[in-house]
Amino acid sequence: MQIQCPKCRAPMQTMQVEQTQVDRCTACEGLWFDALEDRDVHAKASIDLLDPPGAIAPTGRNEQRRVDCPRCHTPMIRVLDRRTRTVWYESCPVCYGKFFDAGEFRAVQPRTLMDLLRGWMGRQAG
Ligand SMILES: [Zn+2]
Ligand SMILES: [Zn+2]
Repeated sequence: MQIQCPKCRAPMQTMQVEQTQVDRCTACEGLWFDALEDRDVHAKASIDLLDPPGAIAPTGRNEQRRVDCPRCHTPMIRVLDRRTRTVWYESCPVCYGKFFDAGEFRAVQPRTLMDLLRGWMGRQAG
C-alpha cells in the first residue's frame, strides 16, 4: 500500500534495497522505515540509493509541529539518535516505524575511518 509522507504529504515510493522495502518521499526525499527495517540496510550502495550524497540534513525543518505516522496515524515522537547525538528522527510509539529527513539516514550510519578523516580535514579547512 502506498503511503503519504508524514511531513509534506507527497506520495512515497517503495524502493527495494537488500532484503527490505523502504519508502521514500518523492518530494522531500525523507525516508520511512517500518519497524526495524532501518537495521536491514547496511551496504553503502543502498544508502547512496536511498539518501544520495549531498543531501544535507535539515535543521530548521525539524521544528515542525505534530507529525503523524503514515501507517497507523499515531502522533510520532521525536527521538535523538543515541550515537551521533545530533540527529533527531520521528518514531512511532505504536508500530515502531521511523521517519528520517533527507540526509539524516546517511548521517546516523556508522562512519568509516575515511569519513571521519574527511570530516576532520573539512573542519580544519573551513
Ligand atoms: Zn515529504
Ligand atoms: Zn505507526
